[in-house]
Amino acid sequence: MVNMEKIINLCKNRGFINLSSEPYGGFSSCYDYGPLGVELKNNIKKAWWDEMTKKHDNIVGLDAAILMSPKVWQASGHLSAGFADELVECKKCHKRFRFDEIVNSKTQTQNLKCPDCGGEITSPKKFNLMMKTFVGPVEDEAAITYLRAETCQGIYMNFEWVKNAMRLKIPFGIAQIGKAFRNEITPGNFIYRTREFEQMEMQFFVKPEDADKWFDYWKEQRMNWYLSLGIKKENLRFHEHKKNELAHYARKAFDIEYNFPFGWHEIEGIHHRGDWDLSNHSKYSGKDLSYFDETTKEKYIPYIIETSCGADRILLAFLIDAYSEVKGGRTKTTKSTKEIEIVLKINKKLAPVKVAVLPLLKNKEEITKKAQEIFDALKLSFVCQYDEVGSIGRRYRRQDEIGTPYCVTIDFQTLKDNTVTARDRDTMEQKRIKIEELKEFLEKNLEI
Ligand code: ATP
Repeated sequence: MVNMEKIINLCKNRGFINLSSEPYGGFSSCYDYGPLGVELKNNIKKAWWDEMTKKHDNIVGLDAAILMSPKVWQASGHLSAGFADELVECKKCHKRFRFDEIVNSKTQTQNLKCPDCGGEITSPKKFNLMMKTFVGPVEDEAAITYLRAETCQGIYMNFEWVKNAMRLKIPFGIAQIGKAFRNEITPGNFIYRTREFEQMEMQFFVKPEDADKWFDYWKEQRMNWYLSLGIKKENLRFHEHKKNELAHYARKAFDIEYNFPFGWHEIEGIHHRGDWDLSNHSKYSGKDLSYFDETTKEKYIPYIIETSCGADRILLAFLIDAYSEVKGGRTKTTKSTKEIEIVLKINKKLAPVKVAVLPLLKNKEEITKKAQEIFDALKLSFVCQYDEVGSIGRRYRRQDEIGTPYCVTIDFQTLKDNTVTARDRDTMEQKRIKIEELKEFLEKNLEI
């Protein structure tokens, strides 16, 4: 199985992900996405957005501000006592515990172990996961606000506006992609747990009596989404939250877990939030956020089923799942049978580069000129790379490593009959195609 070191090296060497503030040695488990990383992340976000807002015609989009009134976080429970207690975190399973709950008078505090897995625990810290900041020129108590810890609160703030403006009827959903910030006690495992990350959340507003039905629906839909994008079934599973695991807002919750090299861990949560959010915001703001059903004349606070995943965590799961090595090489350029070729068998829709254009001989001007023409004709429709450096085998290997689905090669025959070869990343099959049919061929096979 792939280890994290190989994934981190690939990300670093091939322009996917780098440490933030790298010249200063990095910063606080923050990461920057490079040219390939940003393409991959955008493709993941687009796939999610299309799945939510195009496939489901009762789901609309939103992009709310990161900074909100601090009153939002009071009502949501994020600033309550539970969030400001002394906390310890298990270094192994990352569960957090209130210090006062796991310590008793008989226990030496320095020998404390995780009550769940026996792992080593961090020393206790006064901890609130919310990242504090100041708004305005004066840094006093009145100016304190927070970077959002979850994107969904912006959706609740706009529930009524969006419902009215779009004339939505329950059941309906609001989807949002955006940054969230949590002052995690122990970030780690590369981009798995960071303090700044991107969430993709959808809040589905339903009639209270239909909530269980919709919860089951979204559980299934979300699992199927990962499968449809090629994640291996054996690497995915559900984990149901027991009563003591449930977040303060949740009545019921299932995680979708992925089998990471460091164990099974959550990539997405499906939460039954009941009326927690809209009831609390009604109470705290004084604005009635209930829903009136014109047909039945019923008035009620809608229940919310939430699907919430992290774009960064999912990206890591997609990379790990797609990573494969071929010992001895498959492109006949490896010198020794011990050499290893990497092939990133990522879903074609998600691949950061879709097409590589490769002139067979770089010294033949007619060939490079033709190749450049083809590159120019494709580059506005697909993310393309032009590469004329090194043997053709090495160039194929470079593209396989970053998961490019098609390599288009221009050779002597191209000059004679205006055809090129298109090589498939997974099968290595090479098809001869007329240049005028190339774009259509790629569109069809890349499902664009
Ligand atoms: P965890 O138990 O791993 O801390 P959580 O249960 O607190 O996660 P949620 O609040 O349910 O997470 O957030 C939904 C999703 O947001 C998670 O499934 C994950 O994909 C993503 N996410 C949450 N915290 C982080 C983080 N610190 N870094 C990266 N992604 C995160």
